[in-house]
Amino acid sequence: MSQAKLDALQQQILDDNVCPELAATATQLVFGDGNPAADIVFIGEAPGKNEDEQGIPFVGAAGKFLHEMLEMINLKRADIYITNIAKYRPPNNRDPSPEEKKAFLPYLQAQLEIIQPKIVVTLGRHSMNCFLPDLQITKIHGEPKRIRLQMKQNKDTLEVVILPLYHPAAALYNGALRQTLIDDFMSIPAIITKLAST
Ligand code: URA
Repeated sequence: MSQAKLDALQQQILDDNVCPELAATATQLVFGDGNPAADIVFIGEAPGKNEDEQGIPFVGAAGKFLHEMLEMINLKRADIYITNIAKYRPPNNRDPSPEEKKAFLPYLQAQLEIIQPKIVVTLGRHSMNCFLPDLQITKIHGEPKRIRLQMKQNKDTLEVVILPLYHPAAALYNGALRQTLIDDFMSIPAIITKLAST
């Protein structure tokens, strides 16, 4: 069962002592939340203050905006799965470092391998660059890209559509970016419909 595998993976991060400096300053691990069999996974950057306190991703101001956009397309949190690249809050909300992103990447890949989503919505450039390393978010936001992810447990690949979006926190107080993000978000139902018919 996917939830049991996700629980084991969460424990693995603790057992492997991933990013001990981050772990030392954080309140707790923020692993992920939502439907373990979701067709859509949203990936942010790293937990902020509220997420660190509650142990759940996207529960602060950026999360509220994300929920509003999910409602606009008739999706609930229970329909999707949400996680971050870095699973501990970086001190003072700084960006996760390249080393920290690299350390958490295998666990993010394992999460996707368990969930097997059809669509991965990346929120912000850090998350996008995990899958599309050489592209710029200003140029390709809102453009779905089909990629193959190499699986770890076997030699299979998982074909997913990556939808790179701006980060809701960046768009929150910037009117133009906010509208761009909402417009890009509105393309999700059409992508779901198209994938269902292929
Ligand atoms: N921003 C993120 O990238 N992730 C969260 O969980 C919250 C805010």
